[in-house]
Amino acid sequence: MRIGAHVDPAEPLAEAAARGADLIQFFLTDPQAWTDPKDREDAEAIRTAEIDVYIHAPYRINVASSNNRIRIPSRKLLFSHAAGAAKVGAKGLIVHGGHVEKADGLDAGFDNWRKTFAYAAEQGGFATPVLIENTAGGDNACARRFDNLARLWDAIGDYEVGFCLDTCHAHAGGEDLLDIVDRVKAITGRIDLIHANNSRDGFDSGRDRHDNMTSGEIDPELIVAVIRAAGAPALVETPGGAEGQGADITYLRERLA
Ligand SMILES: [Zn+2]
Repeated sequence: MRIGAHVDPAEPLAEAAARGADLIQFFLTDPQAWTDPKDREDAEAIRTAEIDVYIHAPYRINVASSNNRIRIPSRKLLFSHAAGAAKVGAKGLIVHGGHVEKADGLDAGFDNWRKTFAYAAEQGGFATPVLIENTAGGDNACARRFDNLARLWDAIGDYEVGFCLDTCHAHAGGEDLLDIVDRVKAITGRIDLIHANNSRDGFDSGRDRHDNMTSGEIDPELIVAVIRAAGAPALVETPGGAEGQGADITYLRERLA
């Protein structure tokens, strides 16, 4: 089972080595900015490295939005980051499910997602496989509650689209981790990546604060069970830098061995 971490983008290969990570995830730009990625000098080194690479798209992206001034630049940013991710040989581009402004706008939000993939398909597809991630908060989120996730997949499931399951987001978002892999797979048919995070907050709190394996509100054995059931690569997005994340990776490896 391959285990890794979300790392600082400055020297991702050195960060991977410091953690003994099998895979890494990083941002290509400031995650809070509307910025297209620049070419990286270490692109070839990353592309040819032993470790698997995933890129996390900026948080600003919300292709579900009914607001043109958010949706259209979001779509462009998703495309440019998929292209940038391909240059480092990424196996996936992780993007949050997004949300709509009003509860009665969800149907339009799912349709905006569909249009994003339809447009991409016309262009020959995204340069890197897009993995939609479940989110923790908000009342009008496309991928917080799994009833909405099912409606999202009804809209986009015919396209080539993957899924990233975040254990902190599921717990804080109000989806029980027990049997969650079966429930996700009944909807999406796949789990491509696990974001293995504990949560500083309680069940259904709607808060998105990650914690280390043995110090959060989730029984860490449940996180282990999710990874085992999914049979997918997992990475931690937890605090504490190389030391904290290294301990989390060791914890998971020992129990998954
Ligand atoms: Zn995550």
